[in-house]
This record gives sequence, structure tokens and C-alpha cells, in this order.
Amino acid sequence: MKDLTQLVHRPQVDRAGFSSLAVPTHRASTIVFPNADAYAQRRLREPDGYAYGLDGTPTTRVLEAQIAALEQGARSILLPSGQAAIALLFLSVLKPGDTVLIPDTVYPPVRALCADVLAAQGIRHRIYPPLAGSGIEDFIDDSVRLIWTESPGSATMEVEDLPTIVSVARRRGILTGCDNTWATPLLFKPLAAGMDFSVEALTKYAAGHSDVLLGSVTVRDRDWHVRLRAVAKVLGIGVSPDDCALVLRGIETLGVRMAHIGKVSTGIAGALCSHPAVSRVLHPALPDCPGHAFWKRDMTGASGVFSLLLQPELDALLDDALAAMRIFVIGASWGGTRSLVAPMTVRGRLGGNPEGRLLRISIGLEDPDDLLADLLGLLDRLGAASTTAAP
Ligand SMILES: *Cc1c(COP(=O)(O)O)cnc(C)c1O
Repeated sequence: MKDLTQLVHRPQVDRAGFSSLAVPTHRASTIVFPNADAYAQRRLREPDGYAYGLDGTPTTRVLEAQIAALEQGARSILLPSGQAAIALLFLSVLKPGDTVLIPDTVYPPVRALCADVLAAQGIRHRIYPPLAGSGIEDFIDDSVRLIWTESPGSATMEVEDLPTIVSVARRRGILTGCDNTWATPLLFKPLAAGMDFSVEALTKYAAGHSDVLLGSVTVRDRDWHVRLRAVAKVLGIGVSPDDCALVLRGIETLGVRMAHIGKVSTGIAGALCSHPAVSRVLHPALPDCPGHAFWKRDMTGASGVFSLLLQPELDALLDDALAAMRIFVIGASWGGTRSLVAPMTVRGRLGGNPEGRLLRISIGLEDPDDLLADLLGLLDRLGAASTTAAP
């Protein structure tokens, strides 16, 4: 072979005896075939085999198999973000004339997906209160194809009565899906609870280091997986094996991170309850959280995201007080090693506080004493500022 050919035709090397604990990162757009017949038959390799880069690589498959096992599902598909996972699921399951039920507390971009994209395709959505439970019946008519759940809900943290929703849906022949990002499959397994689909924003706890976006849809029925793969492929959606490698690394420590963060977040949430600047702490493990009894019954622990409702007169002072925090940084996309705060406005969702500002907190891996001191400092500053500002 001449030099220019040798540059692109690499020599084969001996791999015998090479046995590593790390998952190799396989990258590919082209897949090569042993002969023309195998190439002609390449579609027969779907949905699990490899015919083109969009099908994924063995790196993708390892993570998919790991998620499917954790979720006790038949198969998982990876998408470039949690939002992409939800969007692919909705687009694959819903057709014109169908209605999807979404909770009022849904991750806000999902509401936008329904209102801005699906509505134009003739797919309707109806919003139900997250604590509807058996009252979900009131929202069902013959057009309802999918009941979407997210528990606890974004920002206001209501825990849904998922077993009741599943039993109503099954009786009516309606599909159910759950955004399980807060709990992860370690604290709750939606498919084991009878749901058809479980979505995780792996971006958060599974990846765990705030440096990658990835999502998964896991199904109990392999036929749905075939459908999801087919739709992802024609939409041209695949994931990077390098991103999968980051999540494969992060997920190894998910168990110890979750156990630690759950304990610390519950302790800190409890310690903030009695502060005079706080009107309510919304943490599923605390009795004051709407749906706490369902959390206690259905989940095996807590993760690290919860919300603080301030005394309403302090809302206007919050932005300035946040600027002086020392450990927490302001940002979304929680689940990493660093603790985050995010001031949010959830108008209309919070009784007695029409402006409805709250502070979402995500506990990271810093020393718990430092975290508590930083939060108490924030609340003390707010209390002091309100006294000064009082007429
Ligand atoms: C972050 C998040 C998502 C979206 O995940 P991305 O990977 O950021 O797109 C979906 N659902 C919930 C509950 C989330 O917190």
C-alpha cells in the first residue's frame, strides 16, 4: 500500500487479552458490510442492530441496555436531551384528533410543545391539576390517547397519585407516561408501577456533572420501541457516543450521589421550615408538601431538588439577596455536583400568593454545613431587608 492509502486504511492490531472495565467509545457515521447482499438487507438489522450512524453504536447500546434494566423495561432509546425524549414520545404516540393530558406542573417546555407544535398538527392537550388522582376521569373523553405525568411536578413539587392514574387509564384503554427525572429509576420505577413509558432527563442526576445533555424513553412493550426508533431515524435524531460515554461514567456513582443528596436535601429543607422569612418548604419528604403521602407510599427516597416559598412581601427583595450567596450559583438544569438556586414565577399555581414567586433549590455535593449556612444567610438578609424597608 502506498502512503496515502496507508493513511486511511489502518493496520489491524491484536486485541486478544485486552479486557478493560471502561466502555469503549465507538464513533460511526458509516457502517461497512461484508458483501452487497448484507448491504441490501441492512434494514432487517433494525431496531437493535447497526446499519447507519443514526442507529447508534455499541457505546449507545450499553447505556440503553443499562437504562432499560434499571427501569425494568423492554428497551430504551436515547435522545439528545430530556426535552427531545418527551417530544419524540409525543410525536410517535399521538396522531391528529388525539388529546394528551398534561399536569399543570409539567416541565414548561412540554406545555410549549403541546401549544406551539402539536396543536398545529391537530393534536390537542388538556391540563389537569397534579393532585387530580381519580378525578383524572373528569378530563378524559374518547379522544384521550395519553396521560402524561411528572412527579413531583416542576417548581411546586406536587407528588401525583400515579397508581390511581394508571388504574383509571388502563380501564379506559389509555396510555400512560411519566417524566421520572426527579426520582430517577433508583427511587421510583414507572414501568413497574404499570406505566407504558418512562422518560428520564439523563442530563440531570444520571450524568451528574452539568456537562452533557441526554434523555431516554423506556418502554414496557417492544413494539413501541420499534416505533420510537423509526420516528427518531426519519427525524434524523441520534446521540453522540461521546455524550453517552459521559453518562456511562456519571451513572456509576448515581447510587452514592443520590443517597447522599437525598439525606442532605431533606435535612436542609427541614431546617429551613421554621425560618421567619419562609412561608412554606415544598419538599416531597416533608409532610407539608402536596402529595407527600404518595411520595411516602410510592418512592423509596428523596433527591435533591425542592422549593421554598417566601413570605409574599419578601418576593421583591429576592433578586438582590441572591447576589450575595457564596456557595449556591443561579442556574437551571440541576442534578450536578454544584448546588443551584433558581428564582421562579409560577403565577396562579400557588394559593394565597398571586405573584407566586418561589426559589427552587438543587442540592449538590458541597459540605452540608456550608450549604445550610449559605441558605440561612440568604433568608436572614431577606428578613433584615424587609425590616429596613418597612414604613
Ligand atoms: C430538565 C428537565 C427536562 C429536560 O431535560 P433536558 O435534558 O434539559 O432537555 C425534562 N423534565 C424535567 C422534569 C426536567 O427537570
